[in-house]
Amino acid sequence: MPSAYEAFHKAIREIGQLGSIEGLLDWDSETIMPDGGLSARAEQISLIATLAHERRTSPTLGELIEQLDSRVDDPIEQSNVREARRMYERASRVPAELVTRLSRVSVLAKEAWGKARAGSDFPAFAPHLSELVNIKRHIADLIGYTGERYDALLDEYEPGMTSAQVEEVFTALRGPLCEFVRRLAHAPRKPDSSVLHRNFPRAAQESFARHLAEAIGFDFSRGRLDVSKHPFCGGTGPADVRLTTRYYEDFIAPSVFGVLHEAGHGIYEQGLPEAHMFTPAGQAVSLGIHESQSRLWENFVGRSREFWEGMYGACQRAFPDALGSVSLDAFHGAINTVSPSLIRVEADEVTYNLHIILRFEIERALIGGTLEVRDIPAAWNGKMRELLGVSPPNDAQGCLQDIHWSAGMFGYFPTYALGNLYAAQFFEAALRAIPNLRDELRRGQFAPLLAWLRENIHQHGMRYRAGELVHRVTGAPLTVEPFLRYIRTKFAPIYGLNIT
Ligand code: ZN
Repeated sequence: MPSAYEAFHKAIREIGQLGSIEGLLDWDSETIMPDGGLSARAEQISLIATLAHERRTSPTLGELIEQLDSRVDDPIEQSNVREARRMYERASRVPAELVTRLSRVSVLAKEAWGKARAGSDFPAFAPHLSELVNIKRHIADLIGYTGERYDALLDEYEPGMTSAQVEEVFTALRGPLCEFVRRLAHAPRKPDSSVLHRNFPRAAQESFARHLAEAIGFDFSRGRLDVSKHPFCGGTGPADVRLTTRYYEDFIAPSVFGVLHEAGHGIYEQGLPEAHMFTPAGQAVSLGIHESQSRLWENFVGRSREFWEGMYGACQRAFPDALGSVSLDAFHGAINTVSPSLIRVEADEVTYNLHIILRFEIERALIGGTLEVRDIPAAWNGKMRELLGVSPPNDAQGCLQDIHWSAGMFGYFPTYALGNLYAAQFFEAALRAIPNLRDELRRGQFAPLLAWLRENIHQHGMRYRAGELVHRVTGAPLTVEPFLRYIRTKFAPIYGLNIT
């Protein structure tokens, strides 16, 4: 007879395996699947999702969790039981019909969103969005919460985090950030990003992107890099990580920084403990912590002066026509221009979080019932003016720009900004722990930073919740100060500002 823990472990491991099979099917459909494969793939994915749902809500699993809870001492086993309970409760409180209805409504909503965005026609999308908001409110009520309804949705992506906590950090961030953006707008010096829009042959971009990913520590014997329309990081576990990117011959930034970003996600995946693969103990803490790893490599390392002191020679050799006569200073300025803009995915690292604060405020009000769907465009445009000082000329460049809401994803956006804040706090801690880190980065030596991330973050899987992990690694709870210090010290010299 297997012990209760062994039976439990087998059950949750198989649920994890089903999820990883679904992930691989998704990767395939985004990269190499012919269009003709679409309907067969939809059936396959739907079957896997149904099987996983049945397993997640099985009464036997529920009994095992009850039996084991408070009876396991080992920290790995504790984290598995804790996360399995969360997964079981979230899944079993929502009836299967409602899950099916949500996925049907969101398929139609995504299609309607695509058309509405193309025609900048918010009223055409509004009925779909209203239906989704109602379903998500209902789901949140079924799952339950102690603070407010939005907490139940946020918990799906950032376990343990509450709306009140997010509000607290965002409130601390918005004033100083808006003020700094205004100072940059009136700064004496303005870097010019036009050199990034020269001709960059695709083959050279492919090999340079691969070189960058490899240099920072992505292991190609346990991963791949392919092309997809929307870049992402997927795969089946630490030994098989799939990155994707896209290439534009007239713009170098998307492949260089996209690959550094996705490789950051991939390096985290490759560092998760293989012994606990397919179970929570072998999985990422949260979307916010995942995003901290991608932003750390993309921005804190990849847009730093030190990084390019070591890497710019190789970059010029890869693109001699475009960059041969561009100085390191000019290139570093070009990859660090700041300008309030309409589109989140094109935003720089200073203004990016303001786009997220806007979305958080709107979706929290929608779910809480204090904002109606029809009032979204006005709320959006008002907040754009208030936070970024720009006015969307139409809804396509305003409230219709992101796919998330049409996919029923409410509570997801905050994790992007939390990722930036976690990254800043982790990076400061790494600089304290590795005093010559900046010199190492200058020499293209990324192994010390990678080893620090492995030891402090990656190897723990889901053992600690995000808040606890941040506290353990940095000695302090999550705060906005490291991020604000980082952008002030970095951008002031580029823009010729004095900071005191
Ligand atoms: Zn990311």
